[in-house]
Amino acid sequence: MHEQNTWLHIGLGSFHRAHQAWYLHRLIAAGDTRWHIAAGNIRNDAENVVQALIAQKGRYVLETASPAGEREYEEITSLQKLIPWQADLQPLIAEGARPQTKVIAFTVTEGGYYLNTSHKLDVKNPDLAGDLQGASNTIYGVIARILEARMANGAGPLTLLNCDNVRHNGERFHDGLVEFLHLTHRQTVIDWLHVNATCPNTMVDRITPRPAADLPARIKAQTGIDDRAPVMGETFIQWVIEDNFRDARPALETVGVELVASVIPYEEAKIRILNASHSCIAWAGTLIGQRYIHESTLTDFIYRIADRYVTEDVIPSLGDNGIDLPLYRDVVLKRFTNPYIQDTNQRVAADGFSKIPAMIAPTLRECYQRGARPEATAMLPALFFVFMQQWHLGKLPYVYQDGILDAAAVHAMFDAADPVAVYAGDKALFGDLSERADFVALLREKIATVNTLIG
Ligand code: NAD
Repeated sequence: MHEQNTWLHIGLGSFHRAHQAWYLHRLIAAGDTRWHIAAGNIRNDAENVVQALIAQKGRYVLETASPAGEREYEEITSLQKLIPWQADLQPLIAEGARPQTKVIAFTVTEGGYYLNTSHKLDVKNPDLAGDLQGASNTIYGVIARILEARMANGAGPLTLLNCDNVRHNGERFHDGLVEFLHLTHRQTVIDWLHVNATCPNTMVDRITPRPAADLPARIKAQTGIDDRAPVMGETFIQWVIEDNFRDARPALETVGVELVASVIPYEEAKIRILNASHSCIAWAGTLIGQRYIHESTLTDFIYRIADRYVTEDVIPSLGDNGIDLPLYRDVVLKRFTNPYIQDTNQRVAADGFSKIPAMIAPTLRECYQRGARPEATAMLPALFFVFMQQWHLGKLPYVYQDGILDAAAVHAMFDAADPVAVYAGDKALFGDLSERADFVALLREKIATVNTLIG
């Protein structure tokens, strides 16, 4: 019997179990049993799920649903070691320090990296400040202790794999970790890290909502299994990883993972085509009183705004980057029509103040650079303007969540003599475009169009 390699996953949420665990399960199902997953949490926020999984020997059912309503059920077998939470995280750290652990992957949410807009650690954050004083409540504190233990044990090199939705996620985590190690005076660990670990960038994709309340009953009816920890997701799945593993890795390419030299083109296509149009649909849908993404995507005028934005402005901006962008657009928009996912406009509409500069302004800028008027893209910030106007008036049907919302500034903008000029002139949102007279004029025109469309 060969000794199995361990893939340690930190952040045992729904997404890990619908995504990475599915790929490793496909390998096992195909007879490749060289790898298994061990998994646990830094936060004590899902012990009921961990305990249910322990009782089920790590097995659980994944339900996938296509836009056409085809549902499939698969029992996932890759999660073979569950690490119950304990305050000092010793079992999780010990697992990471074993020589058999060759990959440590993590999904700790976008906020779990504590990075400010300059990609530096937000050292004032209480969790991070605690870790800088020696606690282990963040991914940095935990990985630092794992690396120290590996150095002490001679456990050998490994790969640290960020699987969160963060642009350049491997680099951002690497830089955050090095800054953390520097601030905690661990120069020898930094030296060790540079020789013994890599942090490849990854692009992960599968819409995975929180498991619905009636999911266990559907699974029981379809499979006969009484599952206390099932998950659900859409049928679509994608995982692109930079093939820069420091030591052994599973044969992921045999189960559909794309191992590439650079994830940047994939990431850029996803951010501009998937994430930006998703938000645009959510803002527009909210403005006409709809609750779910699928109903908004299926609304003609909203679909046309998203489709024109991608077709007329994004695809020419991205150029020939090796990806079939028209196909990608069609697949993405089709995925949004999936009624079984029940994704809400509220969830997707969130964080507009970060999304405009990161996901939308680059396309506006590139259109101007090639001498084109970004007619189609300007509809997105126009929708967000009208959306925020409704927020200002207290007319949104839900609480708008935005990590960097400056409420006083937004109210002041709508109370100003010319709110559109204040909005278009906001450097944090639009950068150098905020100085262009033709950009204010364009936004004015598109805001009028939005107001006509929503009646
Ligand atoms: P979830 O709520 O089910 O799980 C969140 C996990 O993150 C839990 O394990 C929790 O303990 C951990 N966590 C949260 N904050 C943390 C922190 N500050 N430090 C350490 N651990 C922390 O959510 P999910 O659906 O599993 O999504 C997790 C992440 O996966 C997302 O934030 C995103 O980056 C990525 N992702 C999710 C989807 C999706 O559709 N759900 C799609 C693509 C990528």
